[in-house]
Order: sequence, then C-alpha cells, then structure tokens
Amino acid sequence: MTEKSKVFFTDFRTSFHGGGILQKLEKLMKKAGFEEMDFQNRFAAIKLHFGEEGNLAYLRPQYARIVADYVKKLGGTPFLTDCNTLYAGSRKNAVEHLATAAMNGFSAESTHCPILIGDGLKGSDEILVPVPNGLHFKEAKIGRAVMDADVFISLTHFKGHEKMGIGGCVKNIGMGCASRAGKMELHSDGKPLVEEDVCIGCGECQKCCAHDALILCNNKMHVDQDKCAGCGSCISICPVTALQPSWRQADKLLDEKTAEYASAVVAGRPHFHISILNNISPDCDCHGQNDAPILPDIGMLASFDPVALDYAACDLCNKAPRLTHTWMDGKEDSGDIFKDAHRHSHWQDTLEHAVKISLGKKEYELIVL
Ligand code: SF4
Ligand code: SF4
Repeated sequence: MTEKSKVFFTDFRTSFHGGGILQKLEKLMKKAGFEEMDFQNRFAAIKLHFGEEGNLAYLRPQYARIVADYVKKLGGTPFLTDCNTLYAGSRKNAVEHLATAAMNGFSAESTHCPILIGDGLKGSDEILVPVPNGLHFKEAKIGRAVMDADVFISLTHFKGHEKMGIGGCVKNIGMGCASRAGKMELHSDGKPLVEEDVCIGCGECQKCCAHDALILCNNKMHVDQDKCAGCGSCISICPVTALQPSWRQADKLLDEKTAEYASAVVAGRPHFHISILNNISPDCDCHGQNDAPILPDIGMLASFDPVALDYAACDLCNKAPRLTHTWMDGKEDSGDIFKDAHRHSHWQDTLEHAVKISLGKKEYELIVL
C-alpha cells in the first residue's frame, strides 16, 4: 500500500493565553516539517495572490509576514511573488500589480520582505521549464523570478473558482506562476460562447475584456473566437450567466494543463504549501469584488504535497455547513459545494490529472493540531 501524504490542520480558534492565529500558523508550519528544508543562504519564493483592486477576500499581509519571518529565521532570503494577469484589471503589468499590492496592504514594512513580480514588467520575463510526465506540454512558460528561487512556498487563499471549481493550491501554483504567454497557452482552448436567448445586451462583459473580443450586435453579445484569449474573465461578470464555457472538454483541458504547469514549477527543488480556508468566496480573488463567503472560516492547512492539500481542503469544505444569504441560496445541495456553486466546473479534473503526473497524492492523513 502506498504511503499517504501528511496534511496538517489547525482551526481558527484562539484563547487569550494560547496566542493568536498567526502563532497558530507558525506552529502549523513547524509541525508540518518546514524546518526540514535547507534555507541557509537561499532565496525562497512565497507565491501568493495580492488581490484585485476592490476585492476584500484575499489573504491579509500578516500571513505572508509569518512565512517570511520564518524563512529568515532559518537563514533564507524570502520574497513575495505573483505573475501578471492575462485579463484587464489592476494587476496586468508589474507597475499596476505592485501598486495594487501596496493598496491591499502588502509592503516591505507589513510583510518584512520585498515583492518581485514573477514575470516582469509586461509579463514577458519567462523561462521554459520542463514538465515532468506532461501529457499536454513538454515545457511550461513560468515567470523567471519564481524559477530563480531555490525554495518554493505557496501560500494560498482557498476559495471557489468560476471555471476550475476551486481556487486552491495547485491552481495558485500552475496558473499563478505562468507568464502571460503561459496563461494564454493554458486558456487557449477554453473560449466562451454567448447563449443568445439569455443575453440582455447590457454590455457589462465588454468592460472586462482586454482583447476586444466581445462585440455587441443587435443587442446580443458575440465572442470573436480569433481575438478571444480564453481568460474566462467575462464569464463571471455576466449578470444572467449568458456567457458559458464553450464545451466541457475545454474546462477539463484547462484543469489538466494547470496541473502540468504546477508540476513544472515545483519539480526538482524543495517546496512547501500552505492553504488558508477563510473568507471562502464562490469566485476567484482576481475579481474586483467578492461575494459573501459561502462557508464559515475553517482553518489552515500545511503539507509538502500540494495535491493532498487541495483534496483535504475540499473535504473539509464539504463537511462544513453552508452559509445562507450567499451565492449558494436556492442551489442544489449534492454534497459538493464547489460543483453546486459552478455547475459547469469539475474541480476533480485538476487533482486527478495532478495525481496521474505524480505531482502529489489523493490519499492523505489529516493531522489535526
Ligand atoms: S471574450 Fe475571451 S478574452 Fe474577452 S474576457 Fe471573455 S474569455 Fe476573456
Ligand atoms: S454581460 Fe451577459 S447579458 Fe450582458 S452583454 Fe455580456 S453576455 Fe450579454
């Protein structure tokens, strides 16, 4: 029988005498084996999401500070990183990205380490990285600064995602570390279509498209399939869900490709993963707003296995009670909240493919602190 991956968990309960959530995070990392990694005189990339302008669900900078301080205590040189987005928004180049991070509270003062945008000013500073066991790619296009680091740490805000079902650890690594060309490659088979009888011609989707791919004609929106980069940004903007992924296979392909990119990022160097299960919004932090959390704050997870970590996070979420007055109101309860939140998504596709290419395991042992 193959050995299960160890995933460590602690909830958000605190007491006056036992320290706060940040102390619990450091303890969680220690128990999960953080100190087993050699940081001495090495650069450590801490991959996180700084939040889109207007979004309030992203992780507070204090979580990043705890990780950075721990790296420094072990002799390493940490930096926070993320790569630029493909879609129009406040993080589409390094200048705007750093300004957004600062506005959301991420600074050298608040996090005790610098921020480097992984793929440079315009998202073109990339490096080709071999994909171990890749079925869709032999090489991935990853932000250079991410790959220049000796140690890789992911710090993920776990939540839902309108295309991939979950915005978890594997997605944070695979999509988040891709350069602009890499993101195009990941998205290029996932172009949306408009259900014309549902579209009300409001034009909201056009405002978020960075590629001029949406054309309003006779009060109905159309997607120019040649211009569309398949970023998916418009899908969650539509107030009547007229924009939908074009076909099931496209999403599956995106999911599998993302797992392969994640595998390229972590292969061949020490890596460690942390997920924070709070403010669990139905959609990604890439949006300029966040809907109400659909679940209560659950806790924090840490592991050397990013796949097992995501499986554990999904299981914990599916055991928790759903919150009312949220996106989930009136939706089916099948026992899989992320499937019910976005009926076209299938989060298992990413993780099953990740297991197939040996990025991590499905079987895990949950060790509760
Ligand atoms: S039309 Fe294509 S490129 Fe434009 S927002 Fe939608 S998915 Fe992205
Ligand atoms: S946001 Fe939706 S309803 Fe409005 S124009 Fe776009 S597709 Fe049509």
